[in-house]
Amino acid sequence: MQFRDLPSVDSVLAHRDVAAAAQSFDRDWVVDLVREALQSAREQIRQGGDPPDADSVASSVCQRIEDTMRAEPRQVINATGVVIHTNLGRAPLSRAAIEASNQAARGYSNLELDLATGRRGSRQTQVQSLLQQITGAEAALAVNNNASAMLLGITALAAGKEVVVSRSEAVEIGGGFRVPDVLRQSGATLVDVGTTNRTYVRDYDEAVTENTAAFLKVHASNFRVEGFTASVGTAELVEVGARRGIPVLHDVGSGSLLLTEKYGMAHEPTPQESIKDGAGLVFFSGDKLLGGPQAGIVVGKKDLVDVLARHPLARAVRIDKLSLASLTATLVHYLKGEAEKEIPVWRMISTPEAALKKRAKSWQAGLECPSSVEKSRSAVGGGSLPGETMPSWVLSLDCQALGPDEVMRRLRDSSTPVIARIEDDRVLLDPRTVLPEEDGPLLDALRSAVSD
Ligand SMILES: *Cc1c(COP(=O)(O)O)cnc(C)c1O
Repeated sequence: MQFRDLPSVDSVLAHRDVAAAAQSFDRDWVVDLVREALQSAREQIRQGGDPPDADSVASSVCQRIEDTMRAEPRQVINATGVVIHTNLGRAPLSRAAIEASNQAARGYSNLELDLATGRRGSRQTQVQSLLQQITGAEAALAVNNNASAMLLGITALAAGKEVVVSRSEAVEIGGGFRVPDVLRQSGATLVDVGTTNRTYVRDYDEAVTENTAAFLKVHASNFRVEGFTASVGTAELVEVGARRGIPVLHDVGSGSLLLTEKYGMAHEPTPQESIKDGAGLVFFSGDKLLGGPQAGIVVGKKDLVDVLARHPLARAVRIDKLSLASLTATLVHYLKGEAEKEIPVWRMISTPEAALKKRAKSWQAGLECPSSVEKSRSAVGGGSLPGETMPSWVLSLDCQALGPDEVMRRLRDSSTPVIARIEDDRVLLDPRTVLPEEDGPLLDALRSAVSD
């Protein structure tokens, strides 16, 4: 055993870099880090390793400090072409939305104060008014995210009762969010009807008991059922429900407020049409195709929304002031008819092919390695339009010497990490999802990734 060859705590603390760190950071914390580093060195010796010297213990302490101080999440460049990428933080915000949340963060606000009367107000007033006007709903509520919107909705309306769901819609959305689990957590009993591929109006009708609280429809946002299929539309289901006094709750998932078919894609259900069809409550996310911050939105009939707003869980899932500010600013873009121009996800979706090709070519011109500009496809992603893609142009890197995995690793390791994708052993970079101001850091990352 070579424990006695280990440097002492004091000698590591006297090391120039560690002494400097102890000056700029909390000294007790740095001392703890030195002790931990020496402890793990002892562990290494026990397993047959050599004792590290003071220099290497000091450098591991400094590395720990640096890792801890790094701001997370870090900015990355999304060159995957997947517009709403959950692992990369979903929707980038519009300039107005960023400014609004900065403003709300900077000082005090009338978050829950009615400036006209000087009395207590509701944080929901403005966002509710915007959502009513955009979707045509009687009432609205913004909460933390769509998962909590559903949890709140089902708990408030159906705890201790039954909720009827088609077998094709008792799905997993991703990230451990499963419709049956949400129902169980809400204290409701799931009554699944129909089959995986076909469900009819009569299936819902026959499942109704005196204990039925709601029909739930869930948009299949991350898979597609093709072939011999049948499902019941919202309007038809509302008709059955109206006869039996049962509201239809509709999770539309991404909550596109614009028509996706206008951009050459399949039709994504919109909250507006669900409201028009008579749904009691409609749930959707703020940070998918709406293009705003993380939020969950409920729109629907006033009597139902009121039950949710008064439920104790509403307080537990309430939206914070920064998200509220940026959500409100994002919604305003829709009423001004400037969503396509101002909201980044819609700007990306509507970028013409020629502009994408031109941008990929300009990246290529800045590089000195074998590459080509090729036709490809980008996806919307993020639980919307499964399997749907848009025609795009990509820069395709020929990375024979290094191999695509190594190029991808180097790109992730850049000072501004770049996330790309691999197809047929080539690394592809899709300009659609790269913000205009990111060209410089992207090219820096590319140049150093492909050089030996
Ligand atoms: C994404 C999604 C959710 C979850 O929304 P979050 O805002 O991530 O909580 C729920 N339902 C559907 C259909 C979805 O697509």
